[in-house]
Amino acid sequence: MVQTNKSRKEYSLNNIYVYLLNDMRTSDDSEPVSITSVLSLIKDLLPEHLMQEVDSIYVGEFDTFKERNINAFYDSGAIYVSNVQENIKDMVDDIIHEFAHSLESKFGSLIYSDGKLSREFLGKRKKLLLTMLNYEQLAGVKKYIKHFQDTEFNQELDDYLSKEVGYPTILSLTGEYLNTPYAITSLPEYYSTGFEDYFVDLKLREFLRMVSPALYKILKTLEIGEQDGY
Ligand SMILES: [Zn+2]
Repeated sequence: MVQTNKSRKEYSLNNIYVYLLNDMRTSDDSEPVSITSVLSLIKDLLPEHLMQEVDSIYVGEFDTFKERNINAFYDSGAIYVSNVQENIKDMVDDIIHEFAHSLESKFGSLIYSDGKLSREFLGKRKKLLLTMLNYEQLAGVKKYIKHFQDTEFNQELDDYLSKEVGYPTILSLTGEYLNTPYAITSLPEYYSTGFEDYFVDLKLREFLRMVSPALYKILKTLEIGEQDGY
């Protein structure tokens, strides 16, 4: 869109520089995702005032993706996202999710300070734990009971839920009160998966409004933004 170097291409998203460090591709060599379509969709979905903590987006291959088995992360004003993408929607979801993380420090007091979000999150954790304790085949959960009260990321609990139990099972146990299994990971992921759902899909937004009222209220406040003051 702006200019092309030998090895990297530059684009923009409002005032954010977007660097394509490796060409977009898919895992099965089908038609690659168009980065300009991804950027214009994000522009349609996310209000500009929620993009201001990010200066750059780097699209490419980063060791951290393999090491941590992730597709994207946020660090110090920059979003890093994989150039290997199966479809536009997945990439848009990933980037909007990282925008959520970019706002955690600026809006930390709105998101976390009154403890309402944390209570809502721990309530869902407790509900899941109590359900799991009812199933003999999930008895392994007993080893992790104390971690269910932690709002921060815990590697052991994460490995247990995502690898040993698996998200399809978590989904079947939580589908009525949780937006996505990954939201159970930690309080910041509860917030950022909710942020993602709120801005990408009106149906998901409505589901959040019903099952996660504290989270919904925070997201609504973020969305309305400066017009009404934070
Ligand atoms: Zn996240």
